[in-house]
Amino acid sequence: MRSYPRIAIIGAGPGGLTLARILHQAGVPASIFEREEHALARPQGGTLDLHVESGQLAMRRAGLYEEFLQIARYEDQGSRLYDKDGTLIFADDDADDSDRPEVDRTALRQTLLASLPKEIIRWNHSLREVRPRDDGTYDLVFENEMIGPFDLVIGADGSWSKVRPLVSSYRPQYSGITFIEFGIDDVDASHPDLAALVGRGKIGIEADGRGLIVQRNGNSHLRGYAIFRVPTEWAEKTFDFTSPAKARARLAAEFKGWAPRILGLVEASNDHIVSRPIYALPVGHHWQNRIGITLLGDAAHVMSPFGGEGVNMAMLDAAELGRQLLENDEWKDAVKAYEAEMFERVIEAAEHAAEAVATELSHLGAELSLQHYQAHLDARLQGSAA
Ligand SMILES: Cc1cc2nc3c(=O)[nH]c(=O)nc-3n(C[C@H](O)[C@H](O)[C@H](O)COP(=O)(O)OP(=O)(O)OC[C@H]3O[C@@H](n4cnc5c(N)ncnc54)[C@H](O)[C@@H]3O)c2cc1C
Repeated sequence: MRSYPRIAIIGAGPGGLTLARILHQAGVPASIFEREEHALARPQGGTLDLHVESGQLAMRRAGLYEEFLQIARYEDQGSRLYDKDGTLIFADDDADDSDRPEVDRTALRQTLLASLPKEIIRWNHSLREVRPRDDGTYDLVFENEMIGPFDLVIGADGSWSKVRPLVSSYRPQYSGITFIEFGIDDVDASHPDLAALVGRGKIGIEADGRGLIVQRNGNSHLRGYAIFRVPTEWAEKTFDFTSPAKARARLAAEFKGWAPRILGLVEASNDHIVSRPIYALPVGHHWQNRIGITLLGDAAHVMSPFGGEGVNMAMLDAAELGRQLLENDEWKDAVKAYEAEMFERVIEAAEHAAEAVATELSHLGAELSLQHYQAHLDARLQGSAA
């Protein structure tokens, strides 16, 4: 029987869980260490679109495509742009035949978790450090214990990876853009006017050097991001996040003069108002292979969310690392091959995300968004005509 390395995956995000599932399906043991206390310790965030060639491919390789179809919202792929007076300037409302369905992040995590034996995941394990042993293996250092040895430690622990320092000295840099996230619950029953404004998908509004994106999630929920180009500490200095009422009023004040129905989106927010400064690693981030350590997803290549590729790249990394480990006789070669391909593969998405964040809130206002959305629509219509 083939022997596999002792594998530790750090992080039960979409990347780490997809890899664990692919390995588990093939009978390869791996342990996941996750800092959150349990699966429902925090809401996992908004909606994500999974692409055929990456996120969906990973779900197929994980043997979870049927399960994916059950949580995919093909009907929520529309997009609209408004100006700040509330006038519709672009609409693509008939996109339900598009192949990038939305999936709620919590539903995606639940689907992946349900496909794994419970004992694989060690919740409430926040990695502090990976400590190399003299024999080339590694121990994992947590607050109150040390666990090891492992032959292969895979950092799937997101932007602020504690595994990354073993292979790279780079840290993500602040992009200059901060999102203030807000949300509207039970929108169809409680705010039918806002539900109609957003439609089945997402809307964007950009003017006066600021922006709003509001997107339909599952369970009649809207998630919004107010977008600002500001110094890193601006949000903490400007908003009193300990008082949702004050934070909501302050956020609405930032959009003074915009149409009441657009302001209504902010005013209807629930109490979950948080700051999300956008950080990214440099395009082309890579490292020299180190036996027994590798990274995937945001830990390897966090990029701005504008291209909508982050989760797709994370899941494709997981699928490809899994494939290499299963197909290759020598696990060390498998990791090398995965890294070499991944470094090249993510460049295009990272370039696109970097360009998008650099041009967000530019002097051209909504014009770039309009071009971008129109190009998407044209490509889709051409595809369906072909
Ligand atoms: C505001 C915003 C909106 C976004 N929208 C989109 C979108 O629409 N589409 C898209 O594709 N991408 C989007 N992204 C990006 C996407 O969220 C990430 O690319 C994706 O989640 C990366 O998956 P991952 O598994 O690599 O890391 P993560 O999802 O970050 O998961 C990492 C996991 O590791 C755990 N962890 C972290 N540190 C430790 C530690 N020390 N010890 C143990 N566990 C640890 C975390 O708790 C987490 O569970 C968005 C990002 C942001 C900030």
